[in-house]
Amino acid sequence: MKKLVIAIDGPAASGKSTTSKLVAERLGYLYIDTGAMYRAITWKVIRNKIDLEETDIIGELAERTSVRLEKANDEIKVFLDGEDVSKEIRTQEVTGAVSAVSAIEKVRTVMVREQRKIGECGGVVVDGRDIGTVVFPNADVKIFMIADVEERARRRQKELERAGATVDLSKLVEEIVTRDKKDSGRNISPLRKADDAIALDTTDLTIDEQVDFIVKKVFERLG
Ligand code: C5P
Repeated sequence: MKKLVIAIDGPAASGKSTTSKLVAERLGYLYIDTGAMYRAITWKVIRNKIDLEETDIIGELAERTSVRLEKANDEIKVFLDGEDVSKEIRTQEVTGAVSAVSAIEKVRTVMVREQRKIGECGGVVVDGRDIGTVVFPNADVKIFMIADVEERARRRQKELERAGATVDLSKLVEEIVTRDKKDSGRNISPLRKADDAIALDTTDLTIDEQVDFIVKKVFERLG
C-alpha cells in the first residue's frame, strides 16, 4: 500500500499531537512532532542564556544542534545533542520563548530540512504549523485542526495537571492567544490553513472521533 504523508496543522493546544500520535499508530506510520523540535532548540537557547534578540547566534546554534525524536513504548522521546530533554521542553519557560525562536529564518531552514529528510519516503504523520503550506506542500492528506480557545486551555490544564503542575485557566487562555498571535503574525511560514487542507473543529469531539475522521480521510485518499 502507498505510504502517504499526512500533514496536521493548527493553533496551540488544538489536539494535534495526541491525535497525530494515535493516527500514526492506527496506520503503522511514523509520527513527527515538529513542535518538539522547535522546543528543543528553544531549551538549548535558554540553557545557554542566549538573549532571544540574538537571532544570528541562535540561527548558528540551530545549525550545530542535533534534535532527534525517538519512539519509546507509548511516548515520543526528544533528544537534544544526544540528551533526553523530553520533560524540559514542556516547561512554561520553553512554551513562553518558543514562538520567538521559531520565527528566526535560519532556525526554520534547519528544522524544515530535517523534517523533509525524515518524511521523504512517506508513511508519516507530521504535526506543526507550516506542514501543509511549507514543509510538505504536496502532502497527500492535509488537516487543519481548530478548537475553541477555552476548550484548548482546559485540555492544556488537564495535561499539565497530569504532569503535576497547577496553572490558572485564564493564564493558559492568555498564553495560548499570545502564542497563536505570534505564530500567525510572523513573516516566515506563519500558521495558516493551506487552501487544500480540511478544517476539523475538535471543540465537541472526543479523541477517538478525531482519529476516526482523519483515518477515514486517509483511506478515502488511498481509494
Ligand atoms: O506544537 P507545539 O505547541 O509544541 O509547538 C511549539 C511552538 O513551535 C509553536 O508555538 C510554534 O512557535 C513552533 N512551531 C512552528 N512550526 C511548526 C511547529 C511548531 O513554528 N511546524
